[in-house]
Amino acid sequence: MVDKILTVCPYCGSGCNLNLIVEEGKVVGAEPANGRTNEGTLCLKGHYGWDFLNDPKILTARLRQPMIRKEGELREASWEEAIRYTADRLLAIKEKYGPDAIMGTGSARGPGNEANYVMQKFMRAAVGTNNIDHCARVCHGPSVAGLSYSLGDGAMSNSIPEIEDADLLLIFGYNAPVTHPIVAGRIVKAKQKGATIIVCDPRKTESARLADTWLPLKGGTNMALVNAFGHVLIEEQLYDKDFVAKHVEGLSEYIENVRSYTPENAEGITGVKAADIRKAMRQYAGSKKAMILYGMGVCQFSQAVDVVKGLASIALLTGNFGRPSVGIGPVRGQNNVQGSCDMGALPNVYPGYQPVTDAKARAKFEKAWGVKLPDKTGYHLTEIPHLVLKEDKVKAYYIFGEDPVQSDPNAAEVRETLDKMEFVVVQDIFMNKTALHADVILPATSWGEHDGVYSSADRGFQRIRKAVEPPKGTKPDWQIICEVATAMGYPMSYKSTEEIWDEMRGLCPKFAGASYKKMEEQGSVQWPCLTEDHPGTPYLYEGNRFSTPNGKGRLFACEWRAPLEQPDRDYPLTLSTVREVGHYSVRTMTGNCRALSQLSDEPGFIQISPEDARQYGIEDGHLLKVISRRGKITARAQVSERVKAGATYMTYHFWIGACNELTVDVLDPISKTPEFKYCAIRLERI
Ligand code: SF4
Repeated sequence: MVDKILTVCPYCGSGCNLNLIVEEGKVVGAEPANGRTNEGTLCLKGHYGWDFLNDPKILTARLRQPMIRKEGELREASWEEAIRYTADRLLAIKEKYGPDAIMGTGSARGPGNEANYVMQKFMRAAVGTNNIDHCARVCHGPSVAGLSYSLGDGAMSNSIPEIEDADLLLIFGYNAPVTHPIVAGRIVKAKQKGATIIVCDPRKTESARLADTWLPLKGGTNMALVNAFGHVLIEEQLYDKDFVAKHVEGLSEYIENVRSYTPENAEGITGVKAADIRKAMRQYAGSKKAMILYGMGVCQFSQAVDVVKGLASIALLTGNFGRPSVGIGPVRGQNNVQGSCDMGALPNVYPGYQPVTDAKARAKFEKAWGVKLPDKTGYHLTEIPHLVLKEDKVKAYYIFGEDPVQSDPNAAEVRETLDKMEFVVVQDIFMNKTALHADVILPATSWGEHDGVYSSADRGFQRIRKAVEPPKGTKPDWQIICEVATAMGYPMSYKSTEEIWDEMRGLCPKFAGASYKKMEEQGSVQWPCLTEDHPGTPYLYEGNRFSTPNGKGRLFACEWRAPLEQPDRDYPLTLSTVREVGHYSVRTMTGNCRALSQLSDEPGFIQISPEDARQYGIEDGHLLKVISRRGKITARAQVSERVKAGATYMTYHFWIGACNELTVDVLDPISKTPEFKYCAIRLERI
């Protein structure tokens, strides 16, 4: 008997729909379904990324039994024992040091929105702290902060399907063919329909190869280029004066701030020819439907929030909002990073982006949850090493569906942080590098084994569905968290994910009309969706009213700052982290799929330019030691014409050749997002 279960791909924010093919209780394949964003197509991760459900034990094995560390060793325990032990340890730490000594994470991977809602409720209501955060902090945190400031909503203004009808796409630090292949298909279609493609990226990426104009800026100079864009729009009077007068504020300060960023001055900083900067902005301003798409090449710098605001300003100046196929698109990387933000797995907002510092919002959640809630913003997860190692403020960490030892910068410091804590809980589906430091491990069900909702990058709520029975010994994430909360004296229980979803909807006006029933009927419901009879919102800011307090968009420009760790005599090259098309995040899922694991061998590669290869006597395939001030790893050389001299690139997926042993923990001062795209290294032949 063969079943087909309609669900959503677990690998990127494109939110492609697929059918899992199930034979005798086992997933044996996947086929594309006709989802709003993918319309019957899938990339190779969608086609072959289901096999980890069968636990082939290529990288590591599924967790099937709770474990508790006793006398230094992790030993199997019963669920009852593990829940009681976790609750008692958290209660003791709360009693001794206060609730702010406990940190928790949401998860942007498989668990779904309901589990994230339950986790943030657990941290806020049962523990009593706003110390909840998740991996948006290391990726699109600057988008949430920057776009919320400029426009009012920290999300894509327009929809993925609209991309193909834009007249011009300005793609900044975003390599869609690798990160979101199905979104890349829309970019190709736009080009086929006659759109102009402008790509800003230091490396000749797959995106850059698609471009009509490639602006190969030097790494770490984004703000200077964005300021020069603004300078051209102002100087050449290319901006939409009527739109700006009616719908935008901050023009005079903006003009002052971009005054010195002439294209000629910017050429000196960025290396991009002044004439190309002018040409790009003339094309952008001259297009009826111009859309900006951006990714980690914007967000993973220590000046990321400023650059996000600067890019939003370019769209505001030209009136590119409130219509289809315009606007600005931070295309979220992980499948449900938008959803984890939507559900309030952030230290400053409740679900639905309602600030924890807003007394009215707080009173609403206090009434619904029956507790007094804290009124100050919680810790960001990238601050935890400092708060543990330098300030001794955080004593316990409940890590749910994340692997910070592999995914966060300066891995040695992350390990030291975990080892210094009094209590670490890891809740996951596979044994991972962080779990090696845990005091308790709680085994959860996976995507494919439970129901729920994901949010695609373009604000689309879509149902995920259970296709197979989970391994014996595992429990759904939301259920585990409820059991810990109950054992801590704050009873939480739900009969289904729909009951959780409905509780959340009742508290979040933006999501109020997005019922399971509507998702079943429409396939996808894009927020805001205010009422039961509202179909959802494909593009924001209709009528050019922004979601800021006074309804106006806010312009922003400021001085460019160079990245902190510059190359020098001892560490003469720069390193930037990137992704590989066949793998996902920390690779516990894709690395445990037979088809995908064949795509690449460990150790991971390091891309270097032919010039640097010649200078250091390196040939393609050589094994190298890659060394930074923080660590040393082994990687295989990949000599590439696409890379500029002085720069190198590594993916963060691989355990051998884990580039986060090298990366620097410099943070954006507002979003606290690390500067993964820039640190100094040197290479040595092995
Ligand atoms: Fe999955 Fe993203 Fe590929 Fe779509 S583009 S199939 S969501 S990995």
